[in-house]
Amino acid sequence: MPESIAFIGLGNMGTPMSRRLLSAGHRVVGFDLDEGQRARLVEAGGEAASTPRDAVAGATLVVLMLPNSSVVESVLSDELLDALAPGAIVIDMSSSEPLRTRALAERLGSRGIALIDAPVSGGVSGAEAGTLTIMVGGDAAQYDRVLEVLSSLGRPVHAGPVGAGHAAKALNNLLSATHLWATSEAILAGQRFGLEPETLLTIVNGSSGRSGSTENKWPNFILTGRFDSGFAGGLMLKDMKIAADLARELGAPAELGERAVSLWEDAIADLGPGADHTTIARWIAERQEGGGMAR
Ligand code: NAD
Repeated sequence: MPESIAFIGLGNMGTPMSRRLLSAGHRVVGFDLDEGQRARLVEAGGEAASTPRDAVAGATLVVLMLPNSSVVESVLSDELLDALAPGAIVIDMSSSEPLRTRALAERLGSRGIALIDAPVSGGVSGAEAGTLTIMVGGDAAQYDRVLEVLSSLGRPVHAGPVGAGHAAKALNNLLSATHLWATSEAILAGQRFGLEPETLLTIVNGSSGRSGSTENKWPNFILTGRFDSGFAGGLMLKDMKIAADLARELGAPAELGERAVSLWEDAIADLGPGADHTTIARWIAERQEGGGMAR
C-alpha cells in the first residue's frame, strides 16, 4: 500500500533510502537542514518541505535518518508532534541510544504516538541497492504495520521491544570497529613478514578470521585507496560509545570494547570526526615505525 512518508535527514544514507522509497511507489516529503540535500530529493521525484513540521503534515509514516539521539529528540519537538496525523508512526532509523529511545517512546506514547526504532547496517551501497539489514524495535503489531515499507529498503529483522534495534545496532558497530582495527594490525604484521595483503585477505576470507572488514572494507575501500565508504569515523565512534556505555550501565563486561573505544578516540581526535571511518587503517599504518603501508 503506498504510504505518505515524511523523511527527515537526507544525508549519505537518507538520500539513497528516500530514493528507494520513491521507486517503491511511496510519496516522500523530505526535510534536511542542508538545502542541497533537499534539492537532490526533488530531482529524484520527491517533494521538499521547508520545515520538519511541514514535512510531517499529512504523513502516515515519519522516517528519521539523523546523526544521533540528541538531534532526533530536538526534531521531535512538541510543535512537530502536534502536527502529526492521528495514527502516524515515527520510525527512527538513525543509530540512536537505546535507553534514550525507550524514554522517547514513552514521551510519544503518552500522546498516543507510536515510535519504532529501525537502524540499519549495510552502508551507502546497501542503501542504494535496498539490501540493508534493518533491526526493528517495537511490538509485533507495529512491526507488521511497517514491514512492507521497510522491505523496500532491505531485510527487516524483529529485534524485540522498542530500543532493541538501537541496542543491536550499537553492539554490531562495536564489533565492526574492533575487527577493523584488528584486521589492520594483522595485515601490517603480515606485510612485515612478506605476506601480500591480498593474499592474506584471500586466506582469512576462507578461514575463521573473516569479517566484514576482511570481506568488504579492506578490499573495497582500503586497498583500493578510495577510503570512500560514506560512513564517517565520528559516527562509528558514537556507536561504539553507545555500546560500551550500555554494557557498563547493565553491568556486562566490556573490557575489550572500552579499549577499542579509547583507541578509536585517539585516532578520530587526529583524523577529525568527518573523515571516512576506513581511513583508520591508513592512520594505524602511518603510526608504525617506518610509517605507511608497504605497497
Ligand atoms: P550524514 O551526516 O551524511 O547525514 C545526516 C543528515 O542529517 C545530514 O544531511 C544533516 O544535514 C542532517 N541533519 C542534521 N541535523 C538535522 C536536523 N536538526 N534537522 C534535519 N536534518 C538534520 O550521516 P549518515 O551517514 O547519513 O548517517 C545517518 C545515521 O545513520 C547516523 O545515525 C549514522 O550513525 C547511521 N548510519 C550510517 C551509515 C553509513 O554508512 N553512512 C550506515 C548505517 C547507519
